[in-house]
Amino acid sequence: MNESLNICLSCGFCCDGTLIGHVQLDREELPVLKELMDIEDENGNGFFLQPCNNYCDDCSIYSKRPKQCANFKCGLLKSLEQKELNFNSAIEMINVVKQKKIAIEKKLVTLNIELHSQSFYFKMVELKKLLQKNKSESSLTQNHLELILNLEQLDSLLTKKFGVTLY
Ligand code: SF4
Ligand code: SF4
Repeated sequence: MNESLNICLSCGFCCDGTLIGHVQLDREELPVLKELMDIEDENGNGFFLQPCNNYCDDCSIYSKRPKQCANFKCGLLKSLEQKELNFNSAIEMINVVKQKKIAIEKKLVTLNIELHSQSFYFKMVELKKLLQKNKSESSLTQNHLELILNLEQLDSLLTKKFGVTLY
């Protein structure tokens, strides 16, 4: 098994809703994919929301996966393939993101902040807007400030290392 495949098996962020909120589908691939997964249909344009139902440590429809999935390569994977990053550093980066996610989720529980989106990605978009709205309020506690810091660090990490921004 090559390093690229190995790194993706240790990661899964582009399938589990960390890095991407939805996957857009081409019209011509809809008939086949409709047999394999739940697809949202918007005026004949298909997409599905993350986390993907076909993800369970790996893609269960790998040979028939959508084009957007097959073509996607994050910055981390590209850096690994171009030998700008070694395997251990890439794994370390993935683990830092996992830890940041846990830290953010714990703070959300502590602060009793309820987010309604399905994926971590859209939850973070929701959270960013919420924090932006309340940023100037003097009622922000130490926990709020730590949450903001964690979110900023995660955003910066995803932008710099994975080439994706939580907009
Ligand atoms: S986010 Fe990058 S490293 Fe992770 S599974 Fe997707 S392509 Fe692979
Ligand atoms: S179809 Fe496969 S590759 Fe695409 S998001 Fe789902 S699990 Fe990942």
